[in-house]
Amino acid sequence: MDGRPRISRRGFLAGGAGLLGTTAVAEYQSLNGRFVHRYSPGASGQARYAASLGALDRAGTEGVARASVVHIGHSTHLLCVAGMRVLTDPWFFDPAFGALAHELPPAVLPPELGRLDVVLVTHDHADHADARAMDQMDKRASVIVATHELAVRTRKLGYREVVVLAPWEEHAVGAVKITAVPGLHDIFEIGFVVQGGGVSMYFAGDSRLHPSIPAIAERFAPDVSILSCDGTRLAGSALHVMTPEDAVSAARTLKSRLVLPSHAEAVFSDPLAAHVLAKTVARARFVFGEQMGRALPGVRCVVPAPGELVAV
Ligand SMILES: [Zn+2]
Ligand SMILES: [Zn+2]
Repeated sequence: MDGRPRISRRGFLAGGAGLLGTTAVAEYQSLNGRFVHRYSPGASGQARYAASLGALDRAGTEGVARASVVHIGHSTHLLCVAGMRVLTDPWFFDPAFGALAHELPPAVLPPELGRLDVVLVTHDHADHADARAMDQMDKRASVIVATHELAVRTRKLGYREVVVLAPWEEHAVGAVKITAVPGLHDIFEIGFVVQGGGVSMYFAGDSRLHPSIPAIAERFAPDVSILSCDGTRLAGSALHVMTPEDAVSAARTLKSRLVLPSHAEAVFSDPLAAHVLAKTVARARFVFGEQMGRALPGVRCVVPAPGELVAV
């Protein structure tokens, strides 16, 4: 008697396949905005975001508008570079995949984001490419995506400029240059480096630790790195997102002066998914912050609240 649950392998696989099928349908519906999403922004996040937006508006293209990051929630951040506003991986409405919800509500609803110049989408997962949210955002923004399918869907929403970038390709929008960099995930994804006004920021998307990190460090020497760290691991499969330890290791190579955690504010709203489909590291953003403090005390690591502005 080894104490393991007595479920036949065939029964387990059949159950898992059924659940995956349901999840795939739910994800498709979620991407198409067909869910009745239950979500309201947090009042404190809203107040913080209003203050951050006020500071950016007052700054124009200087000061905090030249180089800062406003955290919105999970992998959604507003990068402010050379007066330009660049939003990463929009996700606002729960549940993504029919099973994933925000642990903390995002700072604001999509129409309250204000002016956007660029939107970056690293990959085609519902917690990074929220079509319903994108339909409510500033459509004057240029959108840069990882795949042709994402581009087709984004154009249908009414965005005028939608660009697909392959790793190491670049595209200029106003005062910023965006370069796609390699990522490593359970589906194809890219990361992004945003450069402008003498500042560079690396956004890693959902990646696990990958062999191109040293090349990104060497080529861009990013001042800021925003690193996924919740260690998402699908059941019976490899790690798909960096753990806090992996993100510390990436930070050591990247040598950025400011490091922020990302992809660390989602919980499984479906308890079955939490036990059968995937695992994440609990409170990963704080674990990462503590580990950064011990391993790289000379590097500024900030764990921002939704709506908070972090000046570079
Ligand atoms: Zn993903
Ligand atoms: Zn994700």
